[in-house]
Amino acid sequence: MAALLARAAATAAAFRAGLPDRPVPAADPQRSAAAFDRPLPQAPTPPAQVLDELVAAAEDGLMATPGPRYFGFVVGGALASATAAEMLAAGWDQCAFNTALSPAASAAERAAGRWLLELLGLPATASVGFVTGGQAANTVGLAAARHHVLAEAGWDVERDGLAGAPRVRVVAGVERHATIDRSLRLLGLGSAALQPVAADGNGAIDVRDLQRVLAAAAPGPTVVCLQAGNVNTGACDDLRTAIGLAHDHGAWVHVDGAFGLWAAADPARAHLVAGVELADSWACDGHKWLNLPYDSGFAICSRPGVHVAALSYTASYLTGSGSADPAPADLTPESSRRARGFAAWAGLRELGAGGVAALVARCCALAVRFAGGLAAGGARIANDVVLNQVLVRFGDDGEAGDARTDRVLEAVQRDGTCWMGGTTWRGRRYMRIAVSNATTTEADVDRSVAAVLRAARAC
Ligand SMILES: *Cc1c(COP(=O)(O)O)cnc(C)c1O
Repeated sequence: MAALLARAAATAAAFRAGLPDRPVPAADPQRSAAAFDRPLPQAPTPPAQVLDELVAAAEDGLMATPGPRYFGFVVGGALASATAAEMLAAGWDQCAFNTALSPAASAAERAAGRWLLELLGLPATASVGFVTGGQAANTVGLAAARHHVLAEAGWDVERDGLAGAPRVRVVAGVERHATIDRSLRLLGLGSAALQPVAADGNGAIDVRDLQRVLAAAAPGPTVVCLQAGNVNTGACDDLRTAIGLAHDHGAWVHVDGAFGLWAAADPARAHLVAGVELADSWACDGHKWLNLPYDSGFAICSRPGVHVAALSYTASYLTGSGSADPAPADLTPESSRRARGFAAWAGLRELGAGGVAALVARCCALAVRFAGGLAAGGARIANDVVLNQVLVRFGDDGEAGDARTDRVLEAVQRDGTCWMGGTTWRGRRYMRIAVSNATTTEADVDRSVAAVLRAARAC
């Protein structure tokens, strides 16, 4: 085992060390599919040989997503300590269900959760569930919301389900993340329960329209979904005003802050999410801007009792569940799962509050540098670069501009210097740049700007 783990670690470390020079993207998916595709083995294989075969099959299809010039989606590159901690979590093979199964895994989540609340400026009394990501955190937050607003209406949704229950109204901005809709589907609320609220020019919720939508229906079970960090523009809703309005109408407020919540950790940008602590539940990711390994998300709830009521269960053979002190499994939809707290604890310990603030500040400054460099080269920046997201357009406002933007995108992706994705924002095509990797430097941005402008000239 020792030799095997050492080799696995050395292989991972070599991959990571090569990232600054590795072209993005890697080889084509067909080759990866062929490398893995073989008949079910009938006989056992020695572990060392399995490792060799796995490395050989995977190598070609590994993306440089943790590298410094990957700007697609919103992805980080796992910090060194957090990567090592994740390897330990696998090596120790601990189950984070409850303290009986692993006191260390439970304690690490408890401690990391406390640090997170402090960093994000959220109430110290809130509960934190260590889930897979923003999607799961949205589902958990909205499950707590569902429990609470229906309990207030005299309905026990955990016991009686939704058939015959008072209709739950969900109010959310048109610029909400698509995972909100999936969470509503999973929770049986249905996407038709959604009442959309208009957005402003940069994609933040229009609070006057929120006021209108809230006032348009009779009081009843209501959930308001707000957002910190629009996935195209980085825009953050005016949380203080919106939460105040929602609470005036008796609504539960859930904030999807998958990456934008981290603005709170940087004193220079905390104003973007001012008032966030007044909400009732929050979703945040560890594997995006905090640069923790996959998968890592945080489902945070201001009322631990509601969080537990929505998610926990008991069984005769279990210990610890249902007690006043929630076990990790009382706060997540999973039962047995990996000990995610080790990597979170390690990453936060490595960076410290100052390091997280610096990481956020640096990525935002690099996004501004990107926008400046591209604009100087003739590209059009379409969003107000408030955070780490940049929307870029090449060509005119019409279909010709859409086509040219897509051609530039394709050329950049083929070139391999850097990778960014495309998006459709308000009916038009854009290049979408997200800067969220802890190792990206000014030189990486300058090299990437040059590559994009080169592609634009060729198109
Ligand atoms: C990424 C993202 C999500 C989904 O998070 P996962 O970690 O991919 O599950 C939800 N909301 C927003 C705003 C996001 O950016």
